Amino acid sequence: MTASLDDMYREIILDHYRAPRGKKPVGHADISTRGQNPSCGDEISLDVEMDKGIVKDVHVNCHGCAISVASGSMLAEAVKGRPLAEVVRIAEIVKKMLKGEEVEIPDDIGDIDALKGVRQFPVRIKCALLAWVTLIEGMKSYENGRHESTTTISTEEDTESH
Ligand code: ZN
Repeated sequence: MTASLDDMYREIILDHYRAPRGKKPVGHADISTRGQNPSCGDEISLDVEMDKGIVKDVHVNCHGCAISVASGSMLAEAVKGRPLAEVVRIAEIVKKMLKGEEVEIPDDIGDIDALKGVRQFPVRIKCALLAWVTLIEGMKSYENGRHESTTTISTEEDTESH
């Protein structure tokens, strides 16, 4: 018996759901963003600690379905230790991937590939998107100099504006 790719993806997602990364609060939140996905009821808060333009630490607190929690956990794993510009680039790649565009996923961003399977379930796409649109929103406000402010984004707003 060989496990199909879907089974493998499912295992990775469940693993992140059961033991989400990024649970430890950061020492100092330079970026604090909340996101919500009304279509499923998922809510996330993201705290990012920056150090000289690099993501020093990230705290993800997500209450929602397995997909939204797993996606937030993958985000925590993928962005830690990276420069801001690279983090934004990764978030945009994941967003495009989830929206069905053909993109190349860099090898070094952990388990994010596993989220591809979500595209077969249109109602779940926003669940997977939530963490990433929240991150992009936070990064944008940080780049605009709004440090330490809390911004809020909804997956509904995000899809309407694009
Ligand atoms: Zn959800």
